Amino acid sequence: MQGYVRNDLNLKHLEFDIIRNLPIGEMKALKTISFCGNFGDPLMHPRLVEIIDLFPEQNILIHTNASLRNIKWWSKLGKKKNLKVTFCIDGLGKEHEMYRRNTSYTKIINNAKAYIQSGGKANWQFIVFKHNEHQIQEAKKLSEDIGFEKIFFMYSDRFDTEDTWKVYDEGKYLYDLKKSSHQTTLRDTLGAEIGEKYWKKLYKGKKEISCIWQQERKLYIHSDGTVYPCCMLGNIQAGQNIEKLLLKKIVKDYQNIDLHHHNLQDILKSDVFMKALPSSFSGDPFSHPVCIEYCNKGTGKYAFAELGNVHTDRQA
Ligand code: SF4
Repeated sequence: MQGYVRNDLNLKHLEFDIIRNLPIGEMKALKTISFCGNFGDPLMHPRLVEIIDLFPEQNILIHTNASLRNIKWWSKLGKKKNLKVTFCIDGLGKEHEMYRRNTSYTKIINNAKAYIQSGGKANWQFIVFKHNEHQIQEAKKLSEDIGFEKIFFMYSDRFDTEDTWKVYDEGKYLYDLKKSSHQTTLRDTLGAEIGEKYWKKLYKGKKEISCIWQQERKLYIHSDGTVYPCCMLGNIQAGQNIEKLLLKKIVKDYQNIDLHHHNLQDILKSDVFMKALPSSFSGDPFSHPVCIEYCNKGTGKYAFAELGNVHTDRQA
């Protein structure tokens, strides 16, 4: 990670018509829409408010670093009754800006105040690192003073192979982020060495895969219009090549799950969703490493998270 925008990333916004053409009125069980920030901040979308207004009957959740837009915009957003915003603020002052590079802590706090004072419901998500772990109590107090409904703390999964994460700006090394002294990573839990890929241990103790998102009846639509069972698989395009190659072997042709080419009903009835993915969960012909990493009942992150041993920031 050298602090550049990767030239293989698709930076296009999801087209408004892709969302408008979803069979929203027919989806009676659709209760919640979450703009989870898996692949960019939802506030970057120029038509975000129009998209929100397509779902008047649903609960809307937005995860954002909240450093975008002005106080007037936030005050207006606060008047929407079916909306809750999670502000991602990882520390107080410059500590926040060490991870959320090029955002403004002051602006975010002012935006949060404007939103909450106009009636908006808000949570505060705080990712704990070594450099901000001393601010937890102060953050709890501030969240109450501002009027957040809840503040919750989590750890980053950037430390799965190393205890530090190097930060660069345009290729120039700046500093290391360090994991919190309270954090237990999947690598720690599995007893793998620093720098060692924990895959071997992950595979050794793995058990059956239980698709958490399927159980919770959730779906993920990516910003390029492709549909996945969850945000962890959907995020693979930003991940390692091996993960991409293996997902391609399961999906075969991305057109099959692309809302530019098929409607949502057909995608959910396609071989990808009806056969290839369910078979892959049971190992036929193989299970995707991301499904093993998150959802196998022996060594998966969700299994350990239930025991309180591992925390992840890829849970949307
Ligand atoms: S990682 Fe795989 S098994 Fe887990 S929720 Fe996503 S699709 Fe389902």
